[in-house]
Amino acid sequence: MKNDQKKLTEISELGEFGLIDQITKDVKTKHKNTLKGVGDDAAVIDYGNTCSVVTTDLLIEGIHFNLIYTPLKHLGYKAVVVNLSDIYAMNAIPKQITVSIAISKKFAVEHIEEIYEGIKLACEVYNIDLVGGDTSSSLTGLTISVTAIGEANKEDIVYRSTAQNTDIICVTGNLGGAYMGLQLLEREKEIFTANPGTQPKLEGYDYILQRQLKPEARKDMVELLKELKITPTAMIDISDGLSSELLHICKNSNVGCKIFQDKIPIDLNTEKMAKEFKMEPLIAALNGGEDYELLFTLNGNDFDKIKDHALIHPIGHITGQKNGAVLISEAGQAIPLQAQGWNPLKKEKK
Ligand code: ADP
Ligand code: MG
Repeated sequence: MKNDQKKLTEISELGEFGLIDQITKDVKTKHKNTLKGVGDDAAVIDYGNTCSVVTTDLLIEGIHFNLIYTPLKHLGYKAVVVNLSDIYAMNAIPKQITVSIAISKKFAVEHIEEIYEGIKLACEVYNIDLVGGDTSSSLTGLTISVTAIGEANKEDIVYRSTAQNTDIICVTGNLGGAYMGLQLLEREKEIFTANPGTQPKLEGYDYILQRQLKPEARKDMVELLKELKITPTAMIDISDGLSSELLHICKNSNVGCKIFQDKIPIDLNTEKMAKEFKMEPLIAALNGGEDYELLFTLNGNDFDKIKDHALIHPIGHITGQKNGAVLISEAGQAIPLQAQGWNPLKKEKK
């Protein structure tokens, strides 16, 4: 640690993305085959005929998951899926993973086996080889870090930085469900903590619980895009909420965007839960995160190919950078999009 005579900067002053910028801005790549380093869903390494695509994600007990309500098997499954989602977001096919874990004393062998049941299930479902990792003890709790490696032809890879003015903005599936699932689990945890005799009321909420505890990555959408012979102009997965991801595309592509509130897909179960919490479902969709849907932009010429597809929703279009990134509300008001995360490192506003 540096000595404390100099005034130190609180990490929350920069936020997660500011901190990443700060520590990586002077990182230069040395190898010609490093096509993309820091700054996208995954790094891209060129091996001639094909490219390797690499991403890594870290899950920390108490920050990313709470073991009071997270089944260990689901946790293992989710740890893999969130990484695969970043590979699909590059329009690549994940092939291998490595898994590193740090375990505190409260865990028994059987617990770790349960986590691995989930990891192995995800490997079956997504056709992935588990090829290594690392194991350590931990003083404070459980940490799982997964690295995923994927493959793609160079010309098929889709970055965040290549959206063009007038492109159509699309999202897959629906948004906000994972966040509402988390709210429900947190509510039931509070009730249980106050009255340990009570049973949590989780029946009837299967959809949003599944969105939070056992998310899926959009393998099907990447396959569909190939079938339809569509290469998106830009793509990112939705891990931090629609607003945050759209702002990444806009910033990296030097463009603006206009999306429409009434076009944003929200499941009825998500809406119902939000109403129960007296919350706007739109807020969950824009800022909730962890939906692991894909957000992509398309050239207008491709629009006819997707316009009737039940799982692909056009929500707006790319504009010139000077127009900013805005949401047009149902009342017709233009509201600037803001990246508002829920993690303490992500307190930033853009
Ligand atoms: P995602 O949400 O898609 O997982 P992140 O927002 O975590 O992406 O990361 C953005 C970019 O910054 C990625 O290219 C990632 O590899 C890179 N990155 C994040 N943390 C670090 C770090 N500590 N050192 C170097 N690169 C990092
Ligand atoms: Mg991502």
